[in-house]
Amino acid sequence: MEENSKAVEEPAKIFIVEDEKPIARFLQIDLEKEGFKTAIERNGRRAYERIIQEKYDLVLLDVMLPDMDGMEICKRVREVSDVPIIMLTARDEIADKVEGLDLGANDYVTKPFAFAELLARIRGTIKRYKEDLRQVYERRYIVKNMILYPDRYEVTVNGEPVELTQKEYALLEYLVENKRNVLSRDQILQHVWGYDYIGNTNVVDVYVSYLRTKIDERFGEKYIYTTRGVGYAVRD
Ligand code: CA
Repeated sequence: MEENSKAVEEPAKIFIVEDEKPIARFLQIDLEKEGFKTAIERNGRRAYERIIQEKYDLVLLDVMLPDMDGMEICKRVREVSDVPIIMLTARDEIADKVEGLDLGANDYVTKPFAFAELLARIRGTIKRYKEDLRQVYERRYIVKNMILYPDRYEVTVNGEPVELTQKEYALLEYLVENKRNVLSRDQILQHVWGYDYIGNTNVVDVYVSYLRTKIDERFGEKYIYTTRGVGYAVRD
């Protein structure tokens, strides 16, 4: 029970495509013990249809199946879906593995396999897939060679991470969101420090200088521009 509570909040749904009943059944029992949801399909053609129509987080795909083999299923699924696929190859033949990966399978496991190994492959594949998705859909602001990732408060320049404090990040993001617009010290104060900020407006100049040290000077490229008597702007 303790292991289950450590699993991911929303259980991943695994589609077991395997025509050998004992194998399918043991996979189902063991995967559900690990906290996954599962479904089983023994027929190749129906499996293909279900992969397309239903929503799974990962497909365990046997190669030798009635009506449509695993290679064909993989090839057809990849025309319309990037659902993670792990091939279960009965024969320990390099050619099978290579073909499976060429057709777009994410990984393969050779039968007979140790469940622990399969489990590690499943977790690794799901994790990498989620990471890829996150990267594809993640919001970002790009200014020349600088990228801001607002969902994780991170900044890179030339691909190198820049360590910023929370306030420095907030200031930079505000400038970048309003790229090319000159923002006054008052605007910046209100947005970054809040309406209730009591103190010297110099704090804006001080933080701009911090950012310039960490970004403009470190990377030898100008990002933050001063418009004298007005305020600051980020330009590309
Ligand atoms: Ca089979």
